[in-house]
Amino acid sequence: MRKHNLGAGPGVLPESALQKSAAAALDFNNIGMSILEISHRSKDFEQVLENTTSLVKELLGVPDNYSILFLQGGASTQFAMVPMNLLHTKAAYVDSGVWANKAIKEAKLFGEVNVVASSKDQNYSYIPKNYVIPTDCDYLHITSNNTIYGTQMSAFPTSPIPLICDMSSDIFSRPVDVSKFDLIYAGAQKNMGPAGVTLVIIKNDILKEVKRVVPTMMRYATHIEGGSMYNTPPVFSIYVCMATLEWLKSIGGVSAIEKINKQKAELFYNEVDTNPLFTGTCAVEDRSRMNACFLLKNPELDEEFLKQAKAHGIIGIKGHRSVGGFRASMYNAAPLESVKALTDLMKDFALKTA
Ligand SMILES: *Cc1c(COP(=O)(O)O)cnc(C)c1O
Repeated sequence: MRKHNLGAGPGVLPESALQKSAAAALDFNNIGMSILEISHRSKDFEQVLENTTSLVKELLGVPDNYSILFLQGGASTQFAMVPMNLLHTKAAYVDSGVWANKAIKEAKLFGEVNVVASSKDQNYSYIPKNYVIPTDCDYLHITSNNTIYGTQMSAFPTSPIPLICDMSSDIFSRPVDVSKFDLIYAGAQKNMGPAGVTLVIIKNDILKEVKRVVPTMMRYATHIEGGSMYNTPPVFSIYVCMATLEWLKSIGGVSAIEKINKQKAELFYNEVDTNPLFTGTCAVEDRSRMNACFLLKNPELDEEFLKQAKAHGIIGIKGHRSVGGFRASMYNAAPLESVKALTDLMKDFALKTA
């Protein structure tokens, strides 16, 4: 029996993707070798890379003037690669939480940073809005979904300067107009696959000569020219992404999953709002459909609730230390039944505690 995995990351994956990947780990395409053993220059892997790239393009409707890269080092390496390659003098950042702060910290190593808006004043419980985007900056960096605080942008700013977005925890969860962005990056392990690979979608013409020395592996140009094959790519992680995106395509793609994600979020937040024991932590209009943070009004019950969740096979809902309480991560591959198991438990807990 699979657990109800509502963990924040690495997150739950579709069972079909796990089965395909398990089979490929033993014998890939009936070639008598594991996918873990083959050359990344082999025809068999080239096909995997090509399929995964096509799936990304097709599912997100990526225009032709963008490159799709599969890199390593996680989203955290992108925090540095973005300014290394794109910050010439000054960059604008929206401070919407821990991950945005880590991005800001790296950018400061390479130039001036203008934090144009922050929701720190209320422990990042809302999405900053109505800020002025300075036109003298090289780019604006935003975070679409704040995994730790459970807030999500429902609309993206219209930016007069290049727009860069960390979509690690909500990519492929809903349709986005990629043409509005100049660079999108996402660590795979929340919503598109396992840890070990980072997706970068980059508009080809945003790279200009930078004055600083940038190591070869840290240059986007290296990976665009090399087709993500400058060095050995994370073969198996890319394979699992392919299998995950095949699953997503088979159920109808991002608009279909958006409907399901809405259903899950509605079911969950409705319970939080009607159950007398619980409360949400975020501005209602900014609540994330991916990561839902919630509290027991009486924190003395926290331990008991977690114990009961575990007994019901519900895993990964302990909140991040900076928010406390609980967090239910309802990524694409988390089935409605898992969210239902949690809301049923919350109902039951209220009855027994009343
Ligand atoms: C998890 C996460 C990261 C960090 O990703 P790594 O791949 O571990 O470096 C960055 N940004 C967001 C929004 C995340 O959810």
